[in-house]
Amino acid sequence: MRILLLKHKNVKLIFFCSIFAIVTHVFSSYYPTLTKGSINDADLSALKGVCIAIDPGHGGIDDGASRNNVIEKDLNLTISLKLADVLNAAGANVVLTRDNDVDYYTKGKGGKRNDLLKRVEIIQNANPRLYVSIHANAIAGSKWSGSQVFFSPHVAENRLLAETVQEALRNFPPGNRRQAKQDLDILVLNRIGIPGILIETGYISNTNEAAKLVNPQYQQEMVDLIARALAYHLSNNMGR
Ligand SMILES: [Zn+2]
Repeated sequence: MRILLLKHKNVKLIFFCSIFAIVTHVFSSYYPTLTKGSINDADLSALKGVCIAIDPGHGGIDDGASRNNVIEKDLNLTISLKLADVLNAAGANVVLTRDNDVDYYTKGKGGKRNDLLKRVEIIQNANPRLYVSIHANAIAGSKWSGSQVFFSPHVAENRLLAETVQEALRNFPPGNRRQAKQDLDILVLNRIGIPGILIETGYISNTNEAAKLVNPQYQQEMVDLIARALAYHLSNNMGR
């Protein structure tokens, strides 16, 4: 056979090329959007004139999680306002469920639920093309890390939207292997019949990640990529 005539060096080369081809193929089937290589370069003009709602989680009497000197409600608001700036600069019309340290709790039983229902009402009344709820995660202990996107499957578009934003967040922090996850128990996600996701930007219970999450540069890089992912979703996913 011809291959027997090849020099040892060439056989080695063919071997490594084959391995490379196999790895590329496997990798691209796991990460189909990666091979397009375009989420990071998505054209933000796809956001022009598009109404997008942002829901900074918690606020007012509700701190959310609190670890490593980070209070979730403040972090959520900071990141949400930065995301709003990027989206507005791209020509989107942004609606925020809150733009300062407020809550919508009512007195007595059901206060928390009413806070969430008020956010649902604000988003539904704005009737955006998409909405994004911003939170931060915490567990007992500090071992877990990584930003993660949650979605409800009751709107068909949500899975693809969540997977696209999760893909954009694969370096938050570097090495993040978390996948977009379906969750049927998040009231805001379940109540809204408009495409949307909830982003847990990271674990404030992890000392290293908490330090990153309060870093203005890390925040800016994160919201820039979220905006790119939303633009990619509107122009590529929905254009398929
Ligand atoms: Zn939260």
